[in-house]
Amino acid sequence: MKTCELFKKKTTLSFEVFPPKSSTPVESIYSTISQLQPLNPDFISVTYGAGGSTNNATIDICSAIKNHHKIESVAHLPCLYQTKERVLEQLEEMKSANIENILALRGDRNPDFEPAGDFHYASDLVSFIKEHSDMNVIGACYPECHPECDSIVDDIKHLKDKVDAGCSQLITQLFFDNSTFYDFREKTAIAGINVPIEAGIMPVTNKKQILRMTTLCHATLPKKFLKIMDKYENDPIAMRDAGIAYAVSQIVDLIANDVDGIHLYTMNNPYIAEKICEAVKSLF
Ligand code: FAD
Repeated sequence: MKTCELFKKKTTLSFEVFPPKSSTPVESIYSTISQLQPLNPDFISVTYGAGGSTNNATIDICSAIKNHHKIESVAHLPCLYQTKERVLEQLEEMKSANIENILALRGDRNPDFEPAGDFHYASDLVSFIKEHSDMNVIGACYPECHPECDSIVDDIKHLKDKVDAGCSQLITQLFFDNSTFYDFREKTAIAGINVPIEAGIMPVTNKKQILRMTTLCHATLPKKFLKIMDKYENDPIAMRDAGIAYAVSQIVDLIANDVDGIHLYTMNNPYIAEKICEAVKSLF
């Protein structure tokens, strides 16, 4: 099923997982997915290792989610370091595995690798996929502006081009202040972007990890959130519970404000996803 169809019926709930690091047995992801399955996500997306890597477990994991667990899957595909030939091969692999959805990305730059030169922006990949396949294509978007773009106005213009190239839905970068999402949604509507936008929610359970991530992606940490982290940073259980409660409060507010869907960055942690879903399950 093409995941863009889901939004016609309901507020969607999706999860994001990542392939295990090379030091972790690959089977660990299948146990994670088995534990996420009873939470009834509308789809699960699988990230693709950043910077330079062009061979990944993403398609195998998406295939297991779709064909074994019977949950719709979305394969992330960054393009900066891919050739057109390699993308065509992966489109074939996805077709054979019955995968119908791709999150088309540019990918972050890695100073250790030279871009392949076939794709400069995600919109190039979106057009290419649409030209060569029947895939449903999803795009990434940034409520607080992509870090490499000087202005949100230009970033949204580029986003409009990406949607016009063939994206039928969008997923946001993580954010912790819902008002930034509402401002962004208004600006995208004014720009004529009218595809569903899922809000990316990251439950925070570790102060160091989130400071690293927010520095990389330029997400603002609201004062009340910093207070929580300062208070509980040395108490992992309290930090985890506070992170879950904060994510729940964001989700409740987003659904009350008619968000199209929630995309939960699970960090491969089914316990946290389960606690969040327990608290909000009647809202979907
Ligand atoms: P683009 O849409 O190409 O935008 C990148 C920059 O280029 C922006 O600043 C944009 O304004 C600018 N731009 C676009 N078009 C033009 C143009 N024509 N002229 C000038 N400037 C332009 N990365 C991974 O490696 N693997 C993953 O699995 C992964 N999953 C992600 C999932 C989500 C939901 C999100 C939000 C991000 C994910 N990323 C992932 C990170 C992503 O690859 C980076 O944020 C990357 O820096 C930008 O990717 P993009 O697809 O948004 O790029």
